Amino acid sequence: MSACPTVVWFRRDLRTADNTALARACADGPVVCVWVRDPALLRRRHHRAPGRLAFLRDGLRALDADLRARGSRLVVRTGAPEAVLADVCRTAGARRVVHAAEVSPWGRARDRRVAAALARDGVRVDEVGGDLLVDPGDLPGSSGEGYRVFTPFWRAWRTFPLPRHSPAPERVDGPRLDGEDPGDVAAGDPPAPAGASVARDALVRFIRDGGADGYADTRDDPAADATSHLGAYLRLGMCTAAQVGRALGLPGVLSAGREEFWRQIAWREFFHHLMARRPGVARAALDPALRGVAWDDDPDGLDAWRRGLTGYPLVDAGMRQLAATGFMHNRVRMVAASFLVKDLHVDWRRGETVFMQALVDGDPASNNGGWQWVAGTGAHAAPYFRVLNPVRQAQRFDPGGAYIRRWVPELAGVSGARIHEPWRMTPDEQEAAGCVIGVDYPGPVTDHSGARERVLRLYRDARARSSRAPGGHPSPGDDAAV
Ligand SMILES: Cc1cc2nc3c(=O)[nH]c(=O)nc-3n(C[C@H](O)[C@H](O)[C@H](O)COP(=O)(O)OP(=O)(O)OC[C@H]3O[C@@H](n4cnc5c(N)ncnc54)[C@H](O)[C@@H]3O)c2cc1C
Repeated sequence: MSACPTVVWFRRDLRTADNTALARACADGPVVCVWVRDPALLRRRHHRAPGRLAFLRDGLRALDADLRARGSRLVVRTGAPEAVLADVCRTAGARRVVHAAEVSPWGRARDRRVAAALARDGVRVDEVGGDLLVDPGDLPGSSGEGYRVFTPFWRAWRTFPLPRHSPAPERVDGPRLDGEDPGDVAAGDPPAPAGASVARDALVRFIRDGGADGYADTRDDPAADATSHLGAYLRLGMCTAAQVGRALGLPGVLSAGREEFWRQIAWREFFHHLMARRPGVARAALDPALRGVAWDDDPDGLDAWRRGLTGYPLVDAGMRQLAATGFMHNRVRMVAASFLVKDLHVDWRRGETVFMQALVDGDPASNNGGWQWVAGTGAHAAPYFRVLNPVRQAQRFDPGGAYIRRWVPELAGVSGARIHEPWRMTPDEQEAAGCVIGVDYPGPVTDHSGARERVLRLYRDARARSSRAPGGHPSPGDDAAV
């Protein structure tokens, strides 16, 4: 036990239970809990996300309330983390800061900077635990450089034992410092209620009500909306992969649905490992041969896509769900993302930014992984020449059009198969449906089969240029203009 307090720096771990950094600090003596509102982070384009910030704000409030119930509070301060933490350490007489590890290149660079700055003041910074079930260093793969393909990753990842539940410390004692109101972090209502107890209830409900057991059958049905919606809670550490695994019944044998659900948690970890080991993916294609695609980057196409006005109903439904709720169903994310890249020929990084600015679960690693997967520029399974057909995807995954009608009300009166290709309605059918194409709802912004041919040419040209370049491929792309 030390009389000198430890500062616990909360970031993506807004919970008191199963929080290794907090538990270790409390075991050592008095504790000061801090969250830093870092203007440099909030200025970054991926973080200009009002809904996610409101969700974060409510998560901070919930954490503060939880800490107060244990005799402490969350000290919120604005400024560069190295300056804020140095000041907190000086005021509290602390000589040690602990925090969980992060994988984003920006976060890791910040953490190195903070550790170096605090070391100059004689303060030690310890990285304790992290956002993941398995540390990237513990899964080197046969190459020693981690995994680029999911299935072998999944086979190796799933053999790791789950950590035992670590309850929240009963008391969190330490000096009382002043802080700001977490309410200043953002304005407005979040798309979903935030906090570790809300997350726990959502997880318990999802499993108790059969969501996990039925997952394999329902996960690809956007109209059923039967997935867990845990993404935003995992994103900010209001719940953890280990908590999910234990709630599912691991290490026991899982039903097919639970197994499939656990596999999705592994996808999250896979993309985090990928970013931790290959930070360059945050800026450029993982596949060097596809870093030089000459995108059309048509601003009108991007705008129509963003506003849900492409004339392709499933794509438009997804983009409107995103705008209205900060969420989009996974299957529809795949279709909408594919449409931007492969039908409109817009650089996947532009779509990545649009998603980051709107998704309440927007996460640098998972979002980047999803976009690179769809674009075929990353870790695949899905090679670049596999192009999703937005009409066939809609026919297969929203056959009755219930999801489309929910989010594109102009099409509510369109009957039968025409819901997926409304431009094929005759004038009489349009009148009967109350939807005149080009007036009430746009005609298709592009022709899918022509667009498909063109994107394959763009990718092939990039590969050919890359193979002729000295060293076999161009240097990593620069996303400054994206
Ligand atoms: C283009 C694109 C962008 C995406 N951006 C994000 C993002 O920013 N943040 C994010 O968390 N997920 C992202 N995903 C993955 C997936 O769409 C979401 O995790 C999922 O839709 C969230 O809903 P849910 O919580 O109900 O998921 P569920 O289906 O209930 O899955 C449970 C959890 O598993 C994880 N998960 C599921 N599928 C994936 C996946 N394919 N990749 C990584 N993790 C997964 C998530 O943490 C999710 O909350 C993206 C997928 C695509 C195709």
